Amino acid sequence: MGDIVLVLVLNAGSSSLKFNLFDMNKETVIAEGMAERIGLAEANLACTIEGDKRKEALALPTHREALEAILERLRATVLHDTPIHAVGHRVVHGGPKYGDSVLVTEEVLRDIETFSMYAPLHNPANAMGIRSAMEAFPNVPHVAVFDTAFHHNMPDYARIYGIPYELSQKYGIRRYGFHGTSHAYVAARTAILLCRPLRALKIVTCHIGNGTSICAVDGGKSVETSMGMTPLQGVIMGTRSGSIDASVVEMLMEYEHLDQKAVTELLNKKSGLLGISGVSSDFREIELAADQGNDRARLARDLLTYSVRKFIGSYATVLDGVDAITFTAGIGTHSVYVRDKVCSKLSFLGVKLDPEANQHGTGERIISTPDSRVVVTVVPTNEELMIARETVR
Ligand code: ADP
Repeated sequence: MGDIVLVLVLNAGSSSLKFNLFDMNKETVIAEGMAERIGLAEANLACTIEGDKRKEALALPTHREALEAILERLRATVLHDTPIHAVGHRVVHGGPKYGDSVLVTEEVLRDIETFSMYAPLHNPANAMGIRSAMEAFPNVPHVAVFDTAFHHNMPDYARIYGIPYELSQKYGIRRYGFHGTSHAYVAARTAILLCRPLRALKIVTCHIGNGTSICAVDGGKSVETSMGMTPLQGVIMGTRSGSIDASVVEMLMEYEHLDQKAVTELLNKKSGLLGISGVSSDFREIELAADQGNDRARLARDLLTYSVRKFIGSYATVLDGVDAITFTAGIGTHSVYVRDKVCSKLSFLGVKLDPEANQHGTGERIISTPDSRVVVTVVPTNEELMIARETVR
């Protein structure tokens, strides 16, 4: 493969491992895929290598075996003996310490494990993925790219919770924000679509997927975002409640006889669109059920669009004006309905959606009318490419 710079990007979940192999000379994906059900019965590995898609059942007791299976397939097809230059890892929580991507050392790994206190559903798996990859590739640099890093310099008053200050300091209890690589990527792409410098723009980026967060980006920097200490806060999500009164937790624990683990599970895995609709966490199924007259699916759908709209309205104040609103992630990129509803009551800001452009077209595009004071864009996110770029940097 000559002098090409190969970067492997890994995103380890508790029972999954996603990978993307990038040629960073051209910023193209050579291979991608995902191992699922690691450590469980009926594990499988799906790979798309040079356009050829394959899914196979395999025994994958740990992430290590999953990574070895991925490597074996890469070596047999595209890699052969060509070395990988570096591995970039998605890490959800960088805690109070990491405001930038970092070369992984033993100390960094221990920090990632420590910050499991803020992201118990994500960081342990991220750390495990890094450890496996460091065993598989002991002689290349490994880089951790944090979901929280983009929000690291939000003003203090935007991060603090109204609890006793000493406790915030003692435990690092404050808002961190997530989806940082996505917000940074789509904000930068929006500036390109507008042919204006990012440093001169006030953008509200709306990452609406299984997880949802909204971000106020001022001159390329995150100044406010909807998620909190954990990815539970903010807008209602597929299975997460979003913001609720903390007293609800206390009441559920008492009257439903739930312990701390059970209430965490309820708020993270059984709430949100799924919990309200009783239909699904998948927005396509919610839309279908709502269109067929299911009232609870309608309620879930309405709460999502209402909540996103409220955040945009409040971020217009945070930013003292808005130049652009950007939609991304599964729902933001694909749901014509959500974009239409969210923008429908933003006319006071000067938002004018072009219904044709909203309905048709694919990929990066402007969906507002030429005379709209605020430009509305759709930008499919690319967190993997951002991680690969960070790894090269
Ligand atoms: P994740 O946060 O897991 O990366 P995604 O960004 O892929 O999730 O978003 C997944 C969500 O996007 C699901 O709720 C899915 O139903 C929704 N979605 C995907 N395609 C469409 C579509 N064409 N119309 C509406 N919703 C969609």
